[in-house]
Amino acid sequence: MATTSLSQLLEELQPHGAQLVAVSKTHSEAAIMVLYNQGQRAFGENWVQELVEKQPKLPTDIEWHFIGHLQTNKVKYIAPFVHMIESVDSLKLLQEIDKQASKHNRVIPCLLECRIAQEETKYGLTLEDARAILADSAFPQLRHILIAGVMGMASFTDDTTQVTKEFERLKAIFNALKTSFFASDDRFCEISMGMSGDYRIALEVGTTMVRIGSLLFGPRE
Ligand SMILES: *Cc1c(COP(=O)(O)O)cnc(C)c1O
Repeated sequence: MATTSLSQLLEELQPHGAQLVAVSKTHSEAAIMVLYNQGQRAFGENWVQELVEKQPKLPTDIEWHFIGHLQTNKVKYIAPFVHMIESVDSLKLLQEIDKQASKHNRVIPCLLECRIAQEETKYGLTLEDARAILADSAFPQLRHILIAGVMGMASFTDDTTQVTKEFERLKAIFNALKTSFFASDDRFCEISMGMSGDYRIALEVGTTMVRIGSLLFGPRE
């Protein structure tokens, strides 16, 4: 896959009003600084250890999005600085994020990661799982997290019809949760979907946030 320039990509996102999260996992601080110097501030990382190693060496106004599977025992390492956790897939994890965020007097925006792909390997909640979390009596006690929307990953396939369906599924989950739990809460507004190979489809379906790595940085090792 040939890489594209940041400005070219932003120009493509602009008419759709979608935000770019530049996924920098496996890529160096120098590579991140190239995009930073062109004005990019939102970066996405998948692994706690890699993120905590990079973060202190980079500008403090970078908005770090955590997008990988997050173990509860590692939340404490990113809670002081993480801008958004996009991969929340349990109430237990949400409770731990709340607990760690409270220690730093922070409110951490979170997305509910929903399973939309056919592939068994993908993490995530069903609509029913997400409803159960939001309806749980423990949920209103969480004062240091904010549910800002949903995130999902489509199947890795060339079948654009299938990918479209999966993104539509995520949008339907967003709409259902919005109606039931966030009708009057504008902060529940994000549908994070679309990666290097499928962001154009996500834009058509109505993504608000694309997470793009290889298209910007080149292939990962
Ligand atoms: C790696 C990753 C991306 C970016 O993938 P690319 O294909 O390199 O654009 C986006 N979202 C998640 C959750 C990822 O793990």
